[in-house]
Amino acid sequence: MSFVAERFMLIDYSSLLIAIGFSAICLSVILFSSWITARTETFLLTCAAALGLLVLHVFSYSLYIARPVPWLGAFAFSLLLAGLATLHAASRQFRLGASSWSSPLAGGLAIAIVAPPLLAGYDGVGCVLFNLAAATLLAATAAEYWRGRAEAPGAITALAGLHMLAGLSFLPCTVLLVLNGKARLDAPPQNWAEDLNVIIGIIAVPGAGALTLALNQTRLARAHKQEAMTDSLTGLLNRRALFDLVANEPLRGDVAVVLFDIDRFKTINDERGHAAGDQVLACFAQALRERVEQRAQQGPALPPVFARLGGEEFALLLRGAVAESALREAEAVRARFAALVQERLHLGCTASAGIAFGQPNGYDFEATLNAADQMLYGAKRNGRDRVAIASARLVTLLTPTPRPSSHP
Ligand code: GH3
Ligand code: MG
Ligand code: MG
Repeated sequence: MSFVAERFMLIDYSSLLIAIGFSAICLSVILFSSWITARTETFLLTCAAALGLLVLHVFSYSLYIARPVPWLGAFAFSLLLAGLATLHAASRQFRLGASSWSSPLAGGLAIAIVAPPLLAGYDGVGCVLFNLAAATLLAATAAEYWRGRAEAPGAITALAGLHMLAGLSFLPCTVLLVLNGKARLDAPPQNWAEDLNVIIGIIAVPGAGALTLALNQTRLARAHKQEAMTDSLTGLLNRRALFDLVANEPLRGDVAVVLFDIDRFKTINDERGHAAGDQVLACFAQALRERVEQRAQQGPALPPVFARLGGEEFALLLRGAVAESALREAEAVRARFAALVQERLHLGCTASAGIAFGQPNGYDFEATLNAADQMLYGAKRNGRDRVAIASARLVTLLTPTPRPSSHP
C-alpha cells in the first residue's frame, strides 16, 4: 500500500485509478449527450473522445500494474498521451472554433518519444519522458483556455487552472524517478507523488467536465439571446432588441430617430417575387451598415443604433445630431440603398424617411419614434422618395429631395 493510502487509511492506488476511470466514463457520456443537442459545439465531442481515451488508459494501466510487461506499459501510456493531445485539440476548438494539426502532431510526437524506451524495457526512462510529455500537453491546454478567458473569465480561468494543476502534478513523479536513478524499474512506480497525481486527477476530471458543461450552457444561452435579438433576414437588430437597448433611455434634444420605409415595396414583391423583395431588404441593411461604418471612420462620434423594425421599415438612432447631420445621414443611406438595388437587381427603388428629435430634458423613445412615423407619413403623402424632419418641438419641416424614381 502506498504512502498516502497508508497515512490516511484511504483506498489503494488502483482503486483511486478506477475511481478516475468511472468518473471519466460518466463525464464522457454526459459530454457526448450534450454534443448531440448542440452539434455545432464540436469541442464537446472532442472532450468526450479525450475522456474515452483516458478511460481506456486507466483500465489498461490497471492491467499493467497487475502484469508489468513492456508492451502493456507502452500501450497504456500512449493512450493517455493520445487522450491529452485530444484534450488539447478540444481546447483549440473551444477557443478558435476550428481544429488544427498541432494537437495530433504533438500527441504523435509525444508517443514516438515515450513508447520506444518503454518497449525496450527501459521503463524508468519511459516514465520520466511520459511525465514530462503529459505535463507539457496539459500546460499547453491550460494556455489555450487562458488565451480564450475573455469569453467567461471566471469559468475559463478555473478550467485553465485545473489543467495547469493536473500538468504540475506530473512533475513530482518525474523528480522522484530521476532521484531514484534507475533506467529499468521492476514495477510501475508507486510513491506519494503517483498518489498525489491520481488524487489531483480525481479532482480535475469532474471539475473540468462540470466547467466545460457550464461553459457550453453559457454559450448556448448567449447564442439564443443573440438569435432572439437578431433579424434573421438582414442580420440587423430586430424591433425587440432596439426597444431593449433604448426604450428606457430618455432621448435628449441631440438624439435623432430616423425611420425609413421602402417605397412601394409591395409592388416589388408582386412584380419580381418575394425572393427579390428579400434581396431589396438586404440591400437596405447593407446601406445602413456601410453608412454607420463610414461615420465610425470619420470620427469618434457615439456609434449609432440601427435596426429592422419589421417589414420594410428600418430605424436609425443618431446621437449628437442636429437637423443638418440627421438629414445628411438619412440622405446618404437612401442614396446608397438606391445604388445597391440598381447594381444588384437592376431595379429602380427608393425609400422615404421621417426624422424626429428627443427633447432637451429627455423624451420617451417610443414617442420620438411615433413622431418620426408621423414625419414618414408626411413624406409618403408628399410623393415618397424624400425625407421629412420634425424640429425639436415636432414642428413639421418637409424637405423634398426629388430624385428620379422608377416608381411613380
Ligand atoms: P409604401 O410606399 O406606402 O410604403 O408602400 P409599400 O408597398 O412599401 O407598403 P405596404 O405596407 O403596402 O407593403 C409592405 C409589404 O412588405 C407587404 C409585405 O408583404 C411585405 N413584406 C413584409 N415583410 C417582408 C419580408 O420579409 N420579405 C418580403 N419580400 N416582403 C415583406
Ligand atoms: Mg411600411
Ligand atoms: Mg413601404
